[in-house]
Amino acid sequence: MYEIHHHIDGQTVKGTSGRTSDIYNPATGEVQGKVALASKAEVDAFVARAAAAQIGWAATNPQRRARVMMKFGDLINRDMDKLAEVLSREHGKTIPDARGDIQRGLEVVEVCMGAPSMMKGEYMDSAGPGIDLYSMRQSLGVVAGITPFNFPAMIPLWKMAPAIVTGNAMILKPSERAPTTAMMLAALFEEAGLPPGVLQVVNGDKEAVDAILDNETVQAVGFVGSTPIAQYIYGRATANGKRVQCFGGAKNHMVIMPDADLDKAADALVGAGFGAAGERCMAISVAVPVGEETADRLIEKLVPRIEKLKVGPYTGGADVDYGPLITAQAQARVKGLITSGVEQGADLVLDGRDFSLQGYEKGYYVGPTLFDRVTPDMDIYKEEIFGPVLSTVRASNYDEALKLVMDNPYGNGTSIFTADGDTARDYASRVNVGMVGVNFPIPVPLSYFSFGGWKKSAFGDLNQYGNDAFRFYTKTKTVTARWFSGIKEGAALNFKALD
Ligand code: NAD
Repeated sequence: MYEIHHHIDGQTVKGTSGRTSDIYNPATGEVQGKVALASKAEVDAFVARAAAAQIGWAATNPQRRARVMMKFGDLINRDMDKLAEVLSREHGKTIPDARGDIQRGLEVVEVCMGAPSMMKGEYMDSAGPGIDLYSMRQSLGVVAGITPFNFPAMIPLWKMAPAIVTGNAMILKPSERAPTTAMMLAALFEEAGLPPGVLQVVNGDKEAVDAILDNETVQAVGFVGSTPIAQYIYGRATANGKRVQCFGGAKNHMVIMPDADLDKAADALVGAGFGAAGERCMAISVAVPVGEETADRLIEKLVPRIEKLKVGPYTGGADVDYGPLITAQAQARVKGLITSGVEQGADLVLDGRDFSLQGYEKGYYVGPTLFDRVTPDMDIYKEEIFGPVLSTVRASNYDEALKLVMDNPYGNGTSIFTADGDTARDYASRVNVGMVGVNFPIPVPLSYFSFGGWKKSAFGDLNQYGNDAFRFYTKTKTVTARWFSGIKEGAALNFKALD
């Protein structure tokens, strides 16, 4: 049993609220630790200390700040195994998948090493007589990151790296279900040279989040999590005058055209549908084969591949494909949704509800589940299942498949498998989804592009990481400067163009 408190001013600070939450080991179902839940008073005190630390950090030259990122990247690599082990123990994903989680966060840290060139402003000399104009990008002050359980390293790194390299201080509130990795990352950041107080990790639940949203010192909030909470946070934080970006849930479709390489499409669906037990916002949860024959052949190819999947604990060795869900509630919810699919008339081809693993009977496992002939009115289509469940919705032609995806309220990611360039191009151009894969199942953009969904998958107007992150975490100031040598003009009362 361990206890997780708060990481404040470079040290562990014990929670004083008296409230805690259990941290489970999803592989065994045992409570393995407790995490402190911060009160409003604690959050306000931690924010005030971050504001004090931010002043010196913002004044540190950008190259020095970038150098801290370089060292931070090295230390993440040094401690990769340790981080992956802790991450898997709290989340349940396999060790290779945990390393991928850390790696995709590390890549954003790497891009942030080049931050000085992203911080440059613009300059125009002689914009009028003796007049020069220039703009600069300045940090916001104290910003907050509120992150979900399903990527305990990647998403905190997507938040902390661009926010901090641009001169802000950050209050990070990780998921109370998997909080330890973020605490370890904060310690590594400081070992790399980050001054204490610039990154404060506050653990907590709704009370801590609401305190962040209402704190006047916090200038911006970046959230990742489920859509209802994303919408709530967006509303409350914007009403309080903050800059806000909230990334929500998803229902990602893969369209499979009759000319697609069906072996490759089936492999891609298995990886993207069942990897991390389907607990990814970019998981493909809906396969949309075009034409009955494509659908029949696809199901034929999927079944043996899915039956081969090995489900187990992260300690189960290299052949474990995916692990448990995060909590007993998540497990019960996913099983309930599978039952609803049967009751509402979908064909249950493979049923994972009764899956059990000897020695791990209390772990939160759900076996791989495949549905065919799902229709858009069913709950398994309407809800983000966030479990190892792949639904097949048959479309009779390309236009029907495209319309299905376009009509879905979520718009995080989508993919098309086809051999036809025109069809792929048409799909990528017309579909109203933020990230598109062509013969590529999980199109998470690399760290020098940026990540963001459309529709109910994101609220706010800038993406995560990439150029958008530098825009989100800085504000522009523009200076119009005049020097009077040779200028005779007296008082001017008209608002006029420069000449
Ligand atoms: P969640 O919404 O339950 O929690 C996310 C964060 O919000 C946590 O830090 C949590 O403590 C906090 N929170 C929860 N309830 C709250 C409330 N009532 N008031 C204030 N704060 C609250 O999400 P989760 O279950 O941790 O993560 C899974 C969800 O995140 C899925 O829907 C998934 O699709 C989504 N997700 C989206 C992206 C993306 O980039 N679009 C990436 C990863 C995960």
